[in-house]
Amino acid sequence: MIIARTVAEMKAARKALKGPVGLVPTMGYLHEGHLTLVRRSKAENGSTVVSIFVNPTQFGENEDFGKYPRAPEIDLAILDRLATDVVFMPAPAVIYPPGFNTWVTVEKVTERLEGAVRPGHFRGVATVVNKLFNIVQPDKAYFGQKDAQQCVVVKKMVADLNMPLEIVIVPTVREPDGLAMSSRNVYLSPEERRSAVVISQSLKLAEGMIKQGERNAENIRQEMGTLISKEPKAVIDYVSIADGNTLDEFDEIKPGAVISLAVRFGRIRLLDNMVVP
Ligand code: AMP
Repeated sequence: MIIARTVAEMKAARKALKGPVGLVPTMGYLHEGHLTLVRRSKAENGSTVVSIFVNPTQFGENEDFGKYPRAPEIDLAILDRLATDVVFMPAPAVIYPPGFNTWVTVEKVTERLEGAVRPGHFRGVATVVNKLFNIVQPDKAYFGQKDAQQCVVVKKMVADLNMPLEIVIVPTVREPDGLAMSSRNVYLSPEERRSAVVISQSLKLAEGMIKQGERNAENIRQEMGTLISKEPKAVIDYVSIADGNTLDEFDEIKPGAVISLAVRFGRIRLLDNMVVP
C-alpha cells in the first residue's frame, strides 16, 4: 500500500495504478461504514485510492474541527489489511497552500437542511471534493447515503460541471440497534448513546406510517418529532421530507422522497435519513 502525502506523490502513484480507479474520500477515524465503501470500490475497480483528510474549510468557526477524532495509524493498518492500493493523506497546507483563493459553490440545494444550520459547509465540501477528483483522477468515487445532502450536492456538481467520473452512492451501514455508524458516535456518553437509537426508530416509524397509507408529509414529520422529543437529551435541528434531487420540501409523500433529520445530543450532532421506496 502506497501512502501519498503530497500532490506530486499522489500523481506519481496514480500513474502506476491499474484502471479503472475508484476513490473513497474520508475524514478518517474509519468504521465499518467507510470500509463498506472501500470494499465496494475494490469490487468494482482495478485499483482503489482512499483519501484521509479532515477538511478544515467544511467546519464552521464554532464546530469541532480541532476535536474531530483522528487515528491515522489505526486507519492505515485497517486500509492495509483491506489491500487498499493508495492512501492519500495530505496535510492541510498541501490542499490549501498560502494564497489559496478558489471555491466551488453549488447553489440552491446547499441552502437548506445542513447548509442552513452550517453556513459554508458545502462550499468546503464541494471545493475539497473537486480538488480530490482533480488530484486523484478517479473513474468512480464512492459516497455514503448516510450524508444524503452531501450526495445530492456532489452529484449536482459533477453533472453541472461535466466532471468525467461516476458517483456511486452506498447504503448506510448501521450498528445492531439501528444507529447509523459515524466517527462522531464515540463522543456520545453511554446515556446519549442509548437515547440516540431514537433517530433510526423515528425513520422506522415514518416507514411504517407510509406502509399503512399515510401520505401527508407534515403528519409524518410531527409523529417523528413527537417520538424524538420523548428522549430528554435529544434536540431536533430539523426533520425534512423532501425531493431527492432538489431537496424541496414535500407536502405529500412521493416515491424517491428523502426523509432526513439532524438531532443534537449535547454538543454532538447526528444525521440519518431514508429514501422512500
Ligand atoms: P466521513 O469520514 O464522515 O467524511 O465519511 C466519509 C464517507 O463515508 C462519506 O461518503 C460518508 O457518507 C460515508 N459514510 C460515513 N458513515 C457511513 C455509514 N454509516 N454508512 C455508509 N457510509 C458512511
